[in-house]
Amino acid sequence: MIKEKKGVVIEMGKSDSGEDGSSIRVSEKGMYVDVWGGKLWIDVLSATLEYGLAPMSWTDYLYLSVGGTLSNAGISGQTFNHGPQITNVYELDVVTGKGELVTCSEDRNSELFHAVLGGLGQFGIITRARIALEPAPHRVRWIRVLYSNFARFCKDQEYLISLHGKAARERFDYVEGFVIVDEGLINNWRSSFFSASNPVKITSLNADGGVLYCLEITKNYDQGNADSVDEEIQALLKKLNFIPTSVFTTDLPYVDFLDRVHKAELKLRSKGLWDVPHPWLNLFVPKSRIGDFDKGVFKGILGNKTSGPILIYPMNKNKWDQRSSVVTPEEDVFYLVAFLRSALDTETLEYLTNQNRQILKFCHDIEIKVKQYLPHYTTQQEWMDHFGDKWTQFNARKMQFDPRRILATGQQIFQFHPSLTLNM
Ligand SMILES: Cc1cc2nc3c(=O)[nH]c(=O)nc-3n(C[C@H](O)[C@H](O)[C@H](O)COP(=O)(O)OP(=O)(O)OC[C@H]3O[C@@H](n4cnc5c(N)ncnc54)[C@H](O)[C@@H]3O)c2cc1C
Repeated sequence: MIKEKKGVVIEMGKSDSGEDGSSIRVSEKGMYVDVWGGKLWIDVLSATLEYGLAPMSWTDYLYLSVGGTLSNAGISGQTFNHGPQITNVYELDVVTGKGELVTCSEDRNSELFHAVLGGLGQFGIITRARIALEPAPHRVRWIRVLYSNFARFCKDQEYLISLHGKAARERFDYVEGFVIVDEGLINNWRSSFFSASNPVKITSLNADGGVLYCLEITKNYDQGNADSVDEEIQALLKKLNFIPTSVFTTDLPYVDFLDRVHKAELKLRSKGLWDVPHPWLNLFVPKSRIGDFDKGVFKGILGNKTSGPILIYPMNKNKWDQRSSVVTPEEDVFYLVAFLRSALDTETLEYLTNQNRQILKFCHDIEIKVKQYLPHYTTQQEWMDHFGDKWTQFNARKMQFDPRRILATGQQIFQFHPSLTLNM
């Protein structure tokens, strides 16, 4: 018997226009932009660039809504320096589960403000966000270098993120990386970077345990520092320990760099390979255990077929506001490890889903205290374990802002309870 489930889906794509007819309003003086929650980041970028400005913290893919990424965190290679997107928000308008429209910020209705950021849509619907801006760079030097030794790769990534807060010339603007366990991955959907004229053969690079690690970094520049950018890059690269013959560089407009995944999306769409199941697993792994994770997962559980890119990059916990709803590992530095896999048939889907379970079980068994990013759980106990010390607060915030538990029920954190409706 099919049990009827009732609910409401809110179409956020259509915008509430402001007085000037626009749902994106830039304040040059205040260096911020006010945006309708359903707007896509690509539209935010286009609008702010007209003023020579841009947000500072991004996701790798820009066809995501502002409300959607702020309900998670919004991370990419800029996070080590600027924090996640939720660290770069000044103010929000939120419709709570009680149906109240509330403006909130650090100073005003701050409990709701912090609850909603990273709140998985549990406390309210973000209808407006005020996002911090900076002068937009013009161009980007985009560099990839390879490592066959994981410890060296991590040491360099951790060194690069320790330069956060330094003057721009003394650090890179973006630090990410990925793991290459099979030849196919070197030219995966996220990367048309290593060109045919620049072929890379894993076998030729003496990969440690058959695995290679690619550090991906960028340096922004414009007329102001065009002359010194090469020198600045060389000074930074000199401190790193990658395979000397493995430097791949490209140069492109800032917008094209930020919008890089869309290119790959269009290619995949044209082949019917975009709208397929994606059994993704995103984990925050504490720095102290990333070596164990490498041995057990990259060089163990994965085998030599991954069905998609595996991103890996570290972040500084002090760039994350602990008052938000997101949970991160209890260490000053933690890594994002993102298994971004696609399944073209049910057999692969089952295989990858099982592998995800195996990875989680491995972490559990040897007590690597990972936290899921973009978490998926099916029981409240699992959610309680996920939130750990933050559960009591998360639960109390739910009671305060969505006592009927009507919001984002699909996450299966709280169950809608009819009697709660009657008691209201
Ligand atoms: C191709 C791709 C690439 C990605 N890359 C990154 C990345 O680099 N970094 C990263 O951090 N994340 C990334 N993500 C994950 C992304 O941040 C989340 O999937 C996010 O929820 C997407 O926003 P959306 O607009 O698609 O949300 P939807 O799928 O529309 O919504 C997801 C959930 O978010 C909540 N939500 C959505 N809008 C609102 C709102 N206005 N107010 C309150 N709650 C809301 C609701 O609970 C909703 O169920 C990626 C996702 C995809 C599909």
